[in-house]
Amino acid sequence: MDDSYDIDLHDGWARFTHGAFTCTVVSDGILEMGPAHANFPTADPADIDALLHRHYLPTDRVRLNQNLLVVDTGSRLVLFDTGVGTMPDLGVKTFGAHTGRAVSSLRAAGIEPGDIDVVALTHAHPDHCWGLVDAGGAPLYPNATVMVSKADFTHWTDLGRIAGAPNEHMADHYRGAHLNLMPYAEAGRLVTVEDRSEIVPGITAIATPGHSPGHLVYDITSEDRTIICWGDLCHHHVLLLQRPDWRFQFDHDGPAATEQRRRVYDLVDKRRYAVFAYHFPFPGLGHLRPDGDGYAWLPVPVEPGRPATPPAAPSSGG
Ligand SMILES: [Zn+2]
Repeated sequence: MDDSYDIDLHDGWARFTHGAFTCTVVSDGILEMGPAHANFPTADPADIDALLHRHYLPTDRVRLNQNLLVVDTGSRLVLFDTGVGTMPDLGVKTFGAHTGRAVSSLRAAGIEPGDIDVVALTHAHPDHCWGLVDAGGAPLYPNATVMVSKADFTHWTDLGRIAGAPNEHMADHYRGAHLNLMPYAEAGRLVTVEDRSEIVPGITAIATPGHSPGHLVYDITSEDRTIICWGDLCHHHVLLLQRPDWRFQFDHDGPAATEQRRRVYDLVDKRRYAVFAYHFPFPGLGHLRPDGDGYAWLPVPVEPGRPATPPAAPSSGG
């Protein structure tokens, strides 16, 4: 059984085939997350440094990619998460000028925002839902239905929570989710999904609450092959795979986030599923291999110059 993938790599986007589906990855740019220690507040700083050093990564800065997946099922075009957007007081203020590239990356890949039928959110944090509207607050995906868990929709659009936010950044989480989600809800273009909801044929939401109250991962299955599109189940291709028990700084419920990580890691390893990871090195497609008490990341190789369509196998006839 061949469960490998061939990825066609371009500038800011990539494309691969998954069963009968065509998948495109577009980048929204890089998030600069500052020193590693600040991102994993429960971890032993010496252990963080040792792991990063062992993997030839810097300790003074964590950089996270933003890989947006577009799946063309043949009948529907589904975008998973949206990046940080271009609103001056939200994405640009918070994440700087190197982000907010989702729409230009989509267009480079030949996809117009108006072509998107469904925007499936893993959760309603800034880097996943703030790109639903344009810089003026109008829906960027005018023909799309937004799918999000009920728990995340209810929690993050509740402006009453701003008063209890520990700082302005966390207050912006509520403001930003409200600004981005409500235009779709008010237009009747937002649907809340539950655990095991099939959002379009072949794509099923799986509840993984922890990182956010209603975090979802998505099972994308075609012709007996499955990718788990896992959003923020895991942010870092070394640290949280090797140490699933560490808390990431924005985990809503640390122990629950760890429990979901371990559950999904075990699932994808045992069933040989592929993983699409929002924050891993571009383009974010790979597999897990057990390694010590955690897992190692096996990125699918990208092969510049490889013919887009592999040559047909030589005929064995004659
Ligand atoms: Zn994220």
